[in-house]
Amino acid sequence: EQIEEIESELARLARLNELGEMASTLAHELNQPLSAIANYAQGCTRLLRDRNDSDAERMGEALDEISRQSLRAGQIIRHLREFVMRGETEKMPEDVRKLVEEAGALALVGSREHGVRTVFDFQPGADMVVADRVQIQQVLINLMRNAIEAMRDSETRELTVRTLPGDNDDVVVEVSDTGPGISEEVASRLFQPFVTSKSGGMGIGLSISKRIIEAHGGDIEALRNAQGGVTFRFTVPALRELV
Ligand code: ADP
Repeated sequence: EQIEEIESELARLARLNELGEMASTLAHELNQPLSAIANYAQGCTRLLRDRNDSDAERMGEALDEISRQSLRAGQIIRHLREFVMRGETEKMPEDVRKLVEEAGALALVGSREHGVRTVFDFQPGADMVVADRVQIQQVLINLMRNAIEAMRDSETRELTVRTLPGDNDDVVVEVSDTGPGISEEVASRLFQPFVTSKSGGMGIGLSISKRIIEAHGGDIEALRNAQGGVTFRFTVPALRELV
């Protein structure tokens, strides 16, 4: 039994290693097209600058957003790569409300068309955390996207993101949906890499999320909520007041 356990652990590590190599290659390969997108968008902004009709102004704003988001995509990939390769995080004081709102802006693109109602609930006493912004937002985006996907066939589609004070100077973040809940086949291995119930799924979102939260000294769990859906709850260390 012990040998079997060790063997499966070794197989798991080998796959994590592969994942690291894959992230590294991807980061390298994607960097070029992403910089090209940012450069072309900036070029177009320059071409539009001397025109002063209102369409040109709106296009200019859209182009700015294109270059901002492509730079951000590059940043996410770079952080992911550094993290998968070495488990590194760059922790800074961050406003948890801003982390959630910014991640929401990305994760919720198109969600309203899918009939998903989103509620943000920021409770008092949970404000500043010490976190790697890009990584915690990656976790939030994973959880929100999974929630939206899970509610695709549900009658009620409500996504709630709540922040509240936890024990020992922690901030608790909860992402809840009104989907069907975690299926039995994946429940016991939810946070393991390559566990997925989706035909095109990679099954790495939750395993990376767990590693990120643990690298921050927190933990993450999935609970069934009163609506029959899932609540993912994780903790991030709060910024202590210096006394
Ligand atoms: P992927 O989304 O690629 O499958 P994840 O690691 O993000 O990879 O998720 C693993 C699995 O966990 C999903 O395939 C799904 O079965 C289950 N899961 C995750 N989030 C939810 C959720 N909010 N509701 C129901 N099942 C979920």
